[in-house]
Amino acid sequence: MLAHHPSMARFAEGVHGAWTALQIEHVRRCDFCQRLVALEWNSRHPEVKTLAAYAANPEDFPYAAAMRRHLERDACRRCALLSRSPLVKALAALVRLDKKPLEVIALGLEARLRFQQMAPPQEEVYAYEADGGSSLTLHQGGDDSLLVSANINPMTAPSGRVLLEIIGEHGYRATDLPAYEDSRVCGSVQEARHEFGEHVAMLAASASPESLEELATWMIDPRADLRVAAAQAAGALGAAGATPEIVSRLIELQRDQDERVRKAAAEAVVRCGKVS
Ligand SMILES: [Zn+2]
Ligand SMILES: [Zn+2]
Repeated sequence: MLAHHPSMARFAEGVHGAWTALQIEHVRRCDFCQRLVALEWNSRHPEVKTLAAYAANPEDFPYAAAMRRHLERDACRRCALLSRSPLVKALAALVRLDKKPLEVIALGLEARLRFQQMAPPQEEVYAYEADGGSSLTLHQGGDDSLLVSANINPMTAPSGRVLLEIIGEHGYRATDLPAYEDSRVCGSVQEARHEFGEHVAMLAASASPESLEELATWMIDPRADLRVAAAQAAGALGAAGATPEIVSRLIELQRDQDERVRKAAAEAVVRCGKVS
């Protein structure tokens, strides 16, 4: 373990993935650094893949104390809502089985939907997150419409679709967007407020072609647990992961010897918008 804290000047970079294994081991055991990690997450939240890594194995997660502080003491709604996402859960299940994270670009944001009958909204809805050349924006257009734009590098969206999950306090919806489209109307603020509750999180994601190929090989793994998790991940990605190979594997898995695999595959086929 390093005796010294990692460089404070480059601490934020470290939190978001730049630390070496040795530095991570220092932070794991250092209360001071854990508090600084939580502080950093208050300005730039954990990445979706970080939420999945924590969900996969909270005990072994190097910044567990920081994450508990972020979710509980700092009560971050974005991260709490995103942690309920089927995609995050599916990624976590894969990490638990294979220890190798699926390569996804995923962005998440949180917004408060204010709407009062017979009165204009007090403040327009606006939320934005960007990472590595991709961005996700939620904003309010004219006529109370709620507009989403996901600008995800098309090279990493082999199916041409991007997954969009909307997670609210009492509602959930998964849909998909064309990877090339600018902006899509997601109903009105009033409807969304009614369907999801006042606080909503949004997650936009796509998986790289390589990771989808990997997912397809996990679907024919001898371990039934891995086939189940892979089918659930394909289902969570929906149309965004529906390459011809994934879809044909899912159709085969509907005749798998294991009942859990057949069930996960059947649900995934529906989510991919394909009828077998
Ligand atoms: Zn330290
Ligand atoms: Zn957060």
